[in-house]
Amino acid sequence: MVTQTEIDRLSAAPVTARPLLIEGAWVDGTGDPLPVLSPIDGQPLTTLASATAADVGRAVTSARAAFEDGRWSRQPPAARKAVLHRLADLIQQHALELAVLGVRDNGTEISMALKAEPGSAAGTFRYYAEALDKVYGEIAPTAPDVLGLIHRDPVGVVGAIVPWNFPLMIGAWKLAPALAMGNSVVLKPAETASLTLLRLAELALEAGLPPGVLNVVTGPGHITGAALALSMDVDVLVFTGSGATGRRLLEYSARSNLKRCYLELGGKSPNIVFADTPDLGAAAQSAATAIFRNAGQVCVAGSRLLVERSIHDDFVAALSQASARMQPGNPLQLTTQIGAINSEPQLDRNLGFLRDAVAEGGQIVLGGDRTLTETGGWYMKPTIVTDVAPHHRLYREEVFGPVLAVTPFDTEDEAARLANASDYGLAAGVWTANLSRAHRMIRALRTGVVHVNTYGGTDGTVPLGGVRQSGNGHDKSLHALDKYTDLKTAWIQL
Ligand code: ADP
Repeated sequence: MVTQTEIDRLSAAPVTARPLLIEGAWVDGTGDPLPVLSPIDGQPLTTLASATAADVGRAVTSARAAFEDGRWSRQPPAARKAVLHRLADLIQQHALELAVLGVRDNGTEISMALKAEPGSAAGTFRYYAEALDKVYGEIAPTAPDVLGLIHRDPVGVVGAIVPWNFPLMIGAWKLAPALAMGNSVVLKPAETASLTLLRLAELALEAGLPPGVLNVVTGPGHITGAALALSMDVDVLVFTGSGATGRRLLEYSARSNLKRCYLELGGKSPNIVFADTPDLGAAAQSAATAIFRNAGQVCVAGSRLLVERSIHDDFVAALSQASARMQPGNPLQLTTQIGAINSEPQLDRNLGFLRDAVAEGGQIVLGGDRTLTETGGWYMKPTIVTDVAPHHRLYREEVFGPVLAVTPFDTEDEAARLANASDYGLAAGVWTANLSRAHRMIRALRTGVVHVNTYGGTDGTVPLGGVRQSGNGHDKSLHALDKYTDLKTAWIQL
């Protein structure tokens, strides 16, 4: 049972960030150190090392050497499994410390961070520890004078560039399957959420991961991240972040060694409420958490609410009531339901969206401004904008903040059309009592995930990934292993 006293004690300790992890040693970066400000109060928290292209090159060389000499890649599966289980144990043992450190760095409310960060990361390492010795090759159904074997080989060196909203959870989605399959990894955390991943790497060494198998390079995206994506010796690049950065990564791949890129690029996910929804109160409560948990800084956030016109006004009233109860507060308090905005530029960007929404004809019916300025931190009220039309910026672009766009519809066809009127295709929600309609909508929606009569529920057994400009490839489940393995055919004449 986590207590507030324990959180307060941990959060009072000064933070010293580890520098870069290369070949199992903590080494200084040769770039200018980056100051880290806490979103809770805007005050300096610590300083991060900054990796230049030369530092990144050393990290990639270390990962390549580790891969080639087999210190991890050719360990028996049982040995890799034991290390990943030990890492999961260590994450669980240090769960509260990790959660508090992460919240001080990125501002997620601690009630959510505890589950979504160390809790989920430990589960992910266990899942792939268990999976790694259940992945078989194949024998092809060839003619009898031939033996066709299909091997699944590790890809070699994986570059992983991850975002700031759930660094441990998303970091584990990339690291666990990559390491389970025997790859080496160079990890680049986000500037505003590197601390928990540096600590995770420290725990990985303690768990017995050999030096050089996991390297961590912190620093600015356009320097450190770009160097990793431009490397001639990274085989696969996995990424979660913005569409703009995703596009750059594809360019970097084309300009370097054509490394395979898997991109998870967020969304503008529609949450669709039909008038026949059995419990509209529960749907309204869920629609609020679908957009406002972690202050909307969630890639699958239900950021477009499509409501059948006959219930529109009543539903918006219920939703506003539920949302007004979710006010932002200090994310280190166990009772806080909405934490801080990760950085000041992000807060400014969110407010810019609202100015455009109003100029284009949207009505702000809840929130709309910054709050808790006296704390020095970055907080924004949960905000609901109605009368949002498909050509409005708020309908089309991902805010990545606590801003919900509401649009009415009249028919099922129109609901599907409006839902698909987006360049993105990550997630969707459908609320209805009609089973046939639910299945028709699942087929009609061009998204990677559809929630029915819930929003956001998931576990490690199902894949998460987008279509269209939400990206490609999948995190979680056994399908994630495809990204970290290559198929090799052996054609043997008998
Ligand atoms: P956001 O805008 O939400 O911060 P980004 O896509 O910029 O999302 O950030 C996600 C990750 O991508 C971070 O680790 C960031 O440092 C990294 N990144 C940003 N720009 C680049 C770039 N030009 N090349 C490689 N990585 C980058």
